Amino acid sequence: MSGITEADVIVVGGGGTGLAAASEVALCGRRVILLEKNPNTGGSTSWAIGSVTATNTPHQKRAGITDSADAHFEDMALQAGPLAPRDNLVLRRILVDNTTEMLNWLMTRGVVFIGPMPESPHRVPRMHNVVPNSKSFVYHLTRYCRKLSVDIRLNTAAQRLLEENGRVVGVEACLPDGALHVFRARGGVVLAAGDYSGGRELKARFGSPGMADVDAVNVTATGDGQRMALEIGATVLNGDIWRGPIMRFIPPTRPGLIQRLPPFRPMARFMAWSADNLPQWLLRPFFMSFLTTALGPSPDLYQQGAVLINKRGERFTDELGDPNLDVVKQPERTAWVVFDHNAAQKFSAWPYFISTAPGIAYAYLADYRRNRADIYHQSDTISGLAESMGVPADALSRSIAGYNSGARAARPALDTTPYYALGPVKSYVVFTDGGLKVTERLEVVRDDGSVIPGLYAAGSTGQGGLLLGGHGHHLGWAFISGRIAGRNAASNVR
Ligand SMILES: Cc1cc2nc3c(=O)[nH]c(=O)nc-3n(C[C@H](O)[C@H](O)[C@H](O)COP(=O)(O)OP(=O)(O)OC[C@H]3O[C@@H](n4cnc5c(N)ncnc54)[C@H](O)[C@@H]3O)c2cc1C
Repeated sequence: MSGITEADVIVVGGGGTGLAAASEVALCGRRVILLEKNPNTGGSTSWAIGSVTATNTPHQKRAGITDSADAHFEDMALQAGPLAPRDNLVLRRILVDNTTEMLNWLMTRGVVFIGPMPESPHRVPRMHNVVPNSKSFVYHLTRYCRKLSVDIRLNTAAQRLLEENGRVVGVEACLPDGALHVFRARGGVVLAAGDYSGGRELKARFGSPGMADVDAVNVTATGDGQRMALEIGATVLNGDIWRGPIMRFIPPTRPGLIQRLPPFRPMARFMAWSADNLPQWLLRPFFMSFLTTALGPSPDLYQQGAVLINKRGERFTDELGDPNLDVVKQPERTAWVVFDHNAAQKFSAWPYFISTAPGIAYAYLADYRRNRADIYHQSDTISGLAESMGVPADALSRSIAGYNSGARAARPALDTTPYYALGPVKSYVVFTDGGLKVTERLEVVRDDGSVIPGLYAAGSTGQGGLLLGGHGHHLGWAFISGRIAGRNAASNVR
């Protein structure tokens, strides 16, 4: 053990939640240490597309949209669908009541949004998208935290919670040099360590056995917060709910244009102005660099005859069933989407698109040819296509012949040249929704409902059974719950 450091509040995790929490603690005049296990702050917050669902925003007002938190509350129930009875309505109320303030808070920090864009089943457009990319959240909030003198310790991984007389008094963490160190907290510990999409043990514990093998988009999201709290009697709600497995094209070796743009405010403001004032054809290349990088193939491709082929050149699944999990069982956990000229023509214009970010834009086949030469394959012959994909030609030929012999009127045969393939694709867990059970003050509670004194959780770690369907509620919950947890931990200092 290399020593003890004391603060008023210890925040575990430097994603959107942890940065929001730490800044609030500092604003309350309390000393706060933020522990981040990675070399940089960011977490899944930096991986996000960057959609934030919010009501009564300046963007909605400019667009003449009248909205309310109550309407948002009701629409979230529609979004939850059959899962609605499992929702935490107390936390949903907190979320919808705070979105206006949350968006304004982020904008004051320097984050710029475009929108609002429509997203079903929301009755009015509520989706706001960050520009130029989601690194903007972390860039501006990290700067803000540093300005407020938050003590950010990078490469420092919390390992376990420390208790005295039934109260959490700190964490034991692994320092960059590998030594263990105690960080003691006078007020409390805020767990803001994200989800367990990359955590094999928790995925196996809460989901089906096959799910543990599915790769995560963010491999460092290992559920450390949930694990540490479970060890001292906390409980996880909705552990079996997650986004995925879902197919996405493998990322390019070099990030796309939008991902490379610096998140500085003048650049973001120019992009927001461009979105409102420049014609779509001028903006399209920017959107396409993002769409063809961060997203996956539309299931409509399979309806129109596309098949999934593995590294051995074999067709391995009923593409119209649930092929996402089957991809995980293939060699190197990869597959290619193979189709013919007829399908290619369809997927060159609306209403047939290869991928979309809802409300932003649609990417067609030509967009992939231009932006993703690394995953775009085209040939006049099956053997030429197989060579480009790197799979055995005779096996591919047999697979396509086999599909054609069974193809019914409902699913066109693959028999017009040239042939195409997009891939590799992989199946990923994007995020998990299992969060610690918490009170409305974001205090962590045991299964019997009793509070664990000194322990708070927020964001994905403290999701508390709240259902966050759609595309913009997770980030909202991260910032809102993080700030509340930070304030409450600060007020708990003895
Ligand atoms: C590809 C993708 C796209 C998404 N798009 C959207 C979107 O558009 N809109 C939306 O609302 N949501 C989206 N989400 C979900 C959203 O990004 C997350 O739910 C949200 O960012 C969670 O924030 P967080 O702060 O709770 O977790 P994170 O941002 O993951 O932060 C957790 C931090 O804790 C650190 N940490 C973990 N363990 C330890 C430890 N033991 N010690 C110290 N530090 C630790 C991690 O390194 C990380 O930095 C997306 C997620 C992904 C992966």
